[in-house]
Amino acid sequence: MESMMPAPLDEEPDQAQSALLELQSENQALRARLDSLLELAHRNQNIMARHQSFDLKIIGANSFRELITNIFSALAVTSELDVVSLVLFDKLGDLQQMLSDLKIDLNEFPHLIFLRHEVELSQPETALRKPQLGLYQSLAYSSYFSSFNKKPASIAIIPMRRQGRLIGCLNLGSFKADRFQPNMATDFIERLGSIIAICLENVINNERLTYIGLTDPLTNVSNRRYVEQRMLEEIARARRQRYSIACMYLDIDFFKQINDRYGHQGGDDVLKEVAKRIKDELRLSDTLGRFGGEEFVVVLVNTNLHDAIQVAERIRKSIAGNEFVLSESGTCQATISIGLTTIDENSNYDDASSIARDLVLRADRALYQAKNGGRNQVRCF
Ligand code: GH3
Ligand code: MG
Ligand code: MG
Repeated sequence: MESMMPAPLDEEPDQAQSALLELQSENQALRARLDSLLELAHRNQNIMARHQSFDLKIIGANSFRELITNIFSALAVTSELDVVSLVLFDKLGDLQQMLSDLKIDLNEFPHLIFLRHEVELSQPETALRKPQLGLYQSLAYSSYFSSFNKKPASIAIIPMRRQGRLIGCLNLGSFKADRFQPNMATDFIERLGSIIAICLENVINNERLTYIGLTDPLTNVSNRRYVEQRMLEEIARARRQRYSIACMYLDIDFFKQINDRYGHQGGDDVLKEVAKRIKDELRLSDTLGRFGGEEFVVVLVNTNLHDAIQVAERIRKSIAGNEFVLSESGTCQATISIGLTTIDENSNYDDASSIARDLVLRADRALYQAKNGGRNQVRCF
C-alpha cells in the first residue's frame, strides 16, 4: 500500500524551485547577452555614423587643401588611430610644383609625404599590391611614417590606385600592437583607401584645371587673369597687415627684332628663358605673370622701394649679362626694361581694385621712362 502513496509533498516544490531558478538564470544570461549585443549594435551604429560623416566630409572637399586638411583632422578621430600619414607618388615632382605654383603651402601638412616611386620607398613597390597589416618594422615601413617621432606599434598600409595606377598609399598606425594583424579582414580599409583615392584624383584634377586656366602655356608662369586676381588678394592682405607692395612692369627690348632675326621659335625660346630668369630672382611669395606678348608683371609682397630696386636690378643683369641659347641653333643677346612702383604701408588706401589698377598704371609709366631713357634699365614712378 505504501508504494501507492504519492511522493512526499515537499519534493515537488524543490524541483519546481530549481527549474525556476535555472530559468531565471538562463533568462538573466540571455538578457545580459542581449544587452551586450544591443551595446555592440549601438557602438557599430556609432562607428558607421562617424565613418559616414567622414566620407561625406572628404567627398565634399572642393580643393586639395580642404581634402588633405579634412583627412588629417578627421580620420584619426573617426577610426581611433594614433598616427595617419598619406604618401603621394610624384615621379617628376610636377604635382608638388603645380601645388606650390598655386600657392598651396605643403608645409602645412607634415604628414603628407611626396615620394618618387622606386627611389625613396623603403620597400619594393610590388609590396603595395594589396594592403599590409601587422607590426611596425622600421626597415619596411620607415618611409611611410617618417614624419612621426613616436612610431606606431601596429600599422596598415593601404595602397591607393586609380585606373590601375598606384597614386600613393594611406598609412594608419596604432600604439597598440594588436590593433592591426596580418589575418584581419581588409575590405573595410580597402574601401576607405578607394574613397580617399577617388577624392584625391578629383581635387588634383580640379587643381590642374585651375592651374591650366591661370597659367601661360608658353612660359609656364601665371597669366594676366591670375596676376590680377592675386594682386587684389595681396593688396587686401597688405592693408590688413600694414606692409608695402611693389609692382614691376617688365618688357623685353626690341623683341620684334629678335623675332625678325631668329624667327618666331627663337623669340619663343627667349620668352621662356626670360620668364625663368625673372622667376629665379623672386621669392615663393612673389607673383610673376605674363601680361601679354613680351611683357611681364611682378608683384612683390612686403617689399619696399629700395629692396624692389635691388630685385629689379638683379633681373635686368641676369638677362643682359647672359646670352640666350636657342633651341634650333645659335645664341642671342637680349635686354629688358623695368618700370617699378610701390604702395607703402602709410598710403591712404582706396578700394583694392583701384589700387591694383593704379599700381599697374604707374609701373607701366615707369617702364615708358625706362624705354625712353635708352632701355636696359630700371625706372621708378
Ligand atoms: P620695345 O623695346 O619698344 O619694347 O620694342 P619691341 O620690339 O619689344 O616691342 P613691340 O611691341 O614693337 O614688339 C613686340 C613683339 O612681340 C611683336 C610680336 O610679334 C612679338 N610677340 C608677341 N607675342 C609673342 C609670342 O608669343 N612669341 C613670339 N615669338 N613673339 C611674340
Ligand atoms: Mg611690349
Ligand atoms: Mg618690347
